[in-house]
Amino acid sequence: MHFMNEFRADLHCHSSFSDGSCSPKQILALAKEKGLAGISITDHDTLSAYDEAIPLAKEAGINLLPGIEFSTDFKGHSIHVLAYSFQVSNEHITKFCQKHHLRREERNQNILDRLAKHHMPIKYEEMKATFPLASDNIGRPHIAYMMQQKGYVKDFDEAFKKYIGDGKACHSFGKPFTIEETLDVIHQANGYAIIAHPHLIRNKKILNHLLKMNFDGIEVFYATFPPHHNAEWIKIAQQKNWIHTGGSDFHGDFKPTLGLGSSWVGEETFHMLEKKYKQNCEL
Ligand code: AMP
Ligand code: ZN
Ligand code: FE
Ligand code: FE
Repeated sequence: MHFMNEFRADLHCHSSFSDGSCSPKQILALAKEKGLAGISITDHDTLSAYDEAIPLAKEAGINLLPGIEFSTDFKGHSIHVLAYSFQVSNEHITKFCQKHHLRREERNQNILDRLAKHHMPIKYEEMKATFPLASDNIGRPHIAYMMQQKGYVKDFDEAFKKYIGDGKACHSFGKPFTIEETLDVIHQANGYAIIAHPHLIRNKKILNHLLKMNFDGIEVFYATFPPHHNAEWIKIAQQKNWIHTGGSDFHGDFKPTLGLGSSWVGEETFHMLEKKYKQNCEL
């Protein structure tokens, strides 16, 4: 099924400024190739892609909506919060990104120390040099890549399952931010806060907790999950009168099975989010 004339916007993807393997330029070229009318680059805890992406999107005639995927911690579980429609230069958001940068530096160093104790040394500088665009924003997928390169594990799955997944021997949370703090920052910036990929939250207690919080929407269309998987989330979004968002969570070579545009939103949702963004730019 391929409707080239249908308006589709992928609201969730990662560039090489976080743990994606494509530059913003490559993402926009891919979006064009796939016939996407709109896109949001939602890197983990950074807006660095936007300097490059804003002029390139204009050139390519693709509607670019500012977005980000914030890391939060809920009682030892990683929970991702998507935000949209804020102004890229908003001081609340940019300050929060800077705090995340410091959090990651400390946390990554802790993880590397633990790996070294388990006889899997990795030099932080070497990893930063391997991923120059993400060097201020190194994440666990970069660490997993280095572990694989050095022959410590056979693949990402082994790296996460044995060593660096949530709660495993070499993981460290550092000092994470709560969901509440994150929602406050997003709302101070007059942006929309969205529960990312509820499909991946297996713990019902956590999910029920999230559903009681001050979110504006939920990511009902996600990656390659087929429509019957989305029904549950659509129902919740309707009951709460929340925004329905969607996107692929494209990471390029870091998650090769996920193609850009595998999930998307239509014109109505995209224009609603874009309208808020334009209002924020006029303030
Ligand atoms: P970080 O933000 O540095 O803590 O890294 C989190 C990222 O690691 C997530 O966004 C996922 O892309 C990836 N990740 C987390 N758990 C796993 C896992 N079990 N297997 C593969 N990738 C994972
Ligand atoms: Zn990621
Ligand atoms: Fe995520
Ligand atoms: Fe993501």
